[in-house]
Amino acid sequence: MKKLKKLFIALLTVLVLVIALIYFFPQLIFSSALGQKLMLKLSDESVAEFYFKENQKTKDTLYMKGIIYANTLEDIKNVLDRNPQVTTIAMVEVGGSIDDEVNLVASQEIRKRNINTYLPENGMVASGGTDMFLAGAKRAAHSSAKLGVHSWSDGEKGGDKYPKEDPSHKKYIDYYKEMNIPTDFYWYTLKVAPAESIHWMTPTEIKKYEVLTTKKEDSELLSLQKALSSEEFAGRGTGKNEKAQELITNYFKTIGLDKFKGNYKISFDFVDEKTKKIRQGTNIVGYIKGETYPDKYIVVGAHYDHMGIVDGIVFNGADDNASGTAAMLVLAKYFTKNKPEHSIIFAAFDAEELGLHGSKYFVENPPVSLTDIKLDINFDMISRNPNNEIYVVGTYPYPQFKPVVEKIAKTSSLKVSYGHDDPKDKTKDYWMYSSDNGPFHEKGIPNITFSEEDHPDYHKPTDDFKNTNPVFYKKVVQLIEKFIEDVDTNFPN
Ligand SMILES: [Zn+2]
Repeated sequence: MKKLKKLFIALLTVLVLVIALIYFFPQLIFSSALGQKLMLKLSDESVAEFYFKENQKTKDTLYMKGIIYANTLEDIKNVLDRNPQVTTIAMVEVGGSIDDEVNLVASQEIRKRNINTYLPENGMVASGGTDMFLAGAKRAAHSSAKLGVHSWSDGEKGGDKYPKEDPSHKKYIDYYKEMNIPTDFYWYTLKVAPAESIHWMTPTEIKKYEVLTTKKEDSELLSLQKALSSEEFAGRGTGKNEKAQELITNYFKTIGLDKFKGNYKISFDFVDEKTKKIRQGTNIVGYIKGETYPDKYIVVGAHYDHMGIVDGIVFNGADDNASGTAAMLVLAKYFTKNKPEHSIIFAAFDAEELGLHGSKYFVENPPVSLTDIKLDINFDMISRNPNNEIYVVGTYPYPQFKPVVEKIAKTSSLKVSYGHDDPKDKTKDYWMYSSDNGPFHEKGIPNITFSEEDHPDYHKPTDDFKNTNPVFYKKVVQLIEKFIEDVDTNFPN
């Protein structure tokens, strides 16, 4: 009897301790994976699981079902590490998240790994599940799928009751900006339903807030960048970049660009500063005749060369500058279908990495009179930036273009920054001579360059396609397209 009593007292002590622990430290239950699992069980829900279907032939699609919780980040990392072939997460039913902090970093992980998201037939995401869906690099949905949104609440009042400038909004706005979703989307979710209910997005809303990416926007730009930065192109080193020349020339031909003197390819000699030897480079140049001002020219240029193979290692240069080259190509195609008012010269410059030799040759031996070139637009490295930031360089010496950029920047969720173009500004590197804009600038030809800050893979063999950010890249190209269209129709003087 005594023994039993002792046992009873011991059990009671443990129970009291556990209750006290939970009472004083409720986060033990609410933030632990086990506690969250239990809580979900009580409300007849289950935690997010990742799986492949039994009959699945290729395991490039990973399925996800359940509520995002404390372990979801680890689960995502583990399953993606074990299955590097996965390109898409199909969200079967993800009704929300029980751990907002984890949801945020898990979603960032999806974007960082360039994984796409998909809503299959009868698929459903809501609340935190919708936020995670938005992390997909490409996002698609079956027409029967549903996306639910609502406001948040801190227990006292809903997000819509806090003024717009209240700091409580910041982490959400930052997240949508990072995911390149218009911030209007956030204010809409606050208004459209309170925290305790849900609003299912209409097709018009899905379109308006750019919830899904479109196939057309995704495919050509990215596939060109991917091709140019694939191993077969051997890093596009000057003198050994025939494969890139062939791709660009064929593309110009297919879309029907006009040629100067019967040829897209223009070969030139230059002195290699390192070896003092004469080498040969090849620019590839085509043009579209303007409808209103055929004798006034805008140059749209990007260097296509990169560092080639160094000590047996291929430097693919996906960002530097397969990104700019692919952008130049799709823009050329766009303007063959949407005829410009000015003539536009599209130029893929060679030997930029060796000292801007292609663009130097171009301005020394221009296909048209230099005085008829009204503007040079240059892109160099435009497919990745962790801060969603793109620099527009050249508005300091050519301020007439600043209002145009400011106007179009308002239509973009990118952070559009100015600078690197004032020689007196010692806080930033001076970029007016660091890319193919340099030779144009030297001749006094107005020029605007789109470029991002250097990144850890800059001029490294890891500047690979998989490390770029297609959503950011696409937005930059949209911004450039609007810029060219605007200056072409309302040329600022
Ligand atoms: Zn470059």
